Amino acid sequence: MSHGISQRPQRLVVPVGPVLLGSGEVVVQSMTNTDTADAVATFKQVHELWQAGSELVRITVNNEAAAAAVPEIIDRLGAAGCQVPVVGDFHYNGHELLRKFPKTAEKLAKFRINPGNVGFGRKKDQQFAEIIAIAKDLDKPVRIGANWGSLDQKILAEMMDENARHPHPRPADEVMQEALIHSALDSAAQAIDLGLAENRIVISCKVSTVQALIAIYRKLHQRCDFPLHLGLTEAGMGSKGIVASTAALAVLLQEGIGDTIRISLTPEPGQSRTEEVVVAQELLQSLGVRAFAPMVTACPGCGRTTSQFFQELAQNTTRYIRQHMPHWRQHYPGVENLSVAVMGCIVNGPGESRHADIGISLPGTGESPAAPVFVDGKKVTTLRGDNITSEFLDLIGHYVQTRYGQQATRRSSLSNTNQTGTEHD
Ligand code: SF4
Repeated sequence: MSHGISQRPQRLVVPVGPVLLGSGEVVVQSMTNTDTADAVATFKQVHELWQAGSELVRITVNNEAAAAAVPEIIDRLGAAGCQVPVVGDFHYNGHELLRKFPKTAEKLAKFRINPGNVGFGRKKDQQFAEIIAIAKDLDKPVRIGANWGSLDQKILAEMMDENARHPHPRPADEVMQEALIHSALDSAAQAIDLGLAENRIVISCKVSTVQALIAIYRKLHQRCDFPLHLGLTEAGMGSKGIVASTAALAVLLQEGIGDTIRISLTPEPGQSRTEEVVVAQELLQSLGVRAFAPMVTACPGCGRTTSQFFQELAQNTTRYIRQHMPHWRQHYPGVENLSVAVMGCIVNGPGESRHADIGISLPGTGESPAAPVFVDGKKVTTLRGDNITSEFLDLIGHYVQTRYGQQATRRSSLSNTNQTGTEHD
């Protein structure tokens, strides 16, 4: 075996700034949709995505104006205290832009190139080699990201011809999947031959249908040790995009496949770009892969709870938690594991609330207007009247301070003890 293309049990670990891909923790990635040449707008969106929890942010670097803006974007992020690794996405002219804008090449944390779009004909290998040489000199990781919308047509044609000559030809879809994998892994082998270290390569092979994505990544996982970036390309808008991405990625993540994920949602007009980060986090958290923010369990509601108040309380609780998370994350370590329940009536309300760290069971239609609150499985109070929302949110805030504040204090006193110990050693 050579070139990271094997079945070694150990995956390669690729550092991208402070983030380690392939180390076992699945990383959330996102991509901007601003014009990169507009440094201020792009800085703001990268910052917004980072605040939402994106751990890598990709920006397109499609022309000279965009390439020229990259250092300013990254400097602005640094001045704002945001150290998120920024990845440059290059197509067709990446070799020229990276050569002409050395500061841009230096400031980016990773280059993403698509083997189908690096160049055409005889120029392809030369342009690919130029990009790899720059990455090698600057010790930058490269994602070799094949995409079936831009699959190398030469490879596909050769493989289709070979398949047609076979006595038992395989279905065209299967050949296309093999061509995509071949394109990515062949480019990775080429990059290593050109001197790029094995642990500077990340692979992706994106398609837009769920079953094809699952089949491709299962094969990739078997055939190489490179960290794999997962994502259903062109997932679409709203619930369609969320469901399709979740269906594909959940299967793969459950099998331990995937090191970074991106949910490629088309935002609805006026919708924040951060939606894709929230969905990625919720996917990982629902699978129990990672915890990012407290989970609010709410029943769907039914004819037993006809009032809108129940829906509003579930929404207000979710909003309250999101608003407080930036502060809580810093001061109350472990708070991301908090579970909260907001339930609509007595049928499942008390039971589900007892399972949560803190839960409320609202009165359904015809029940007495009282809302018992449960903390750590025990009923602690009953809320009534017009201030149930504010009183319940206060109880959540108090619970966070009491439970996770103690952990912070314990940690800080432990670290003081250790420091004292070190001094005496
Ligand atoms: S807990 Fe009550 S209101 Fe909620 S879905 Fe179940 S029966 Fe309906």
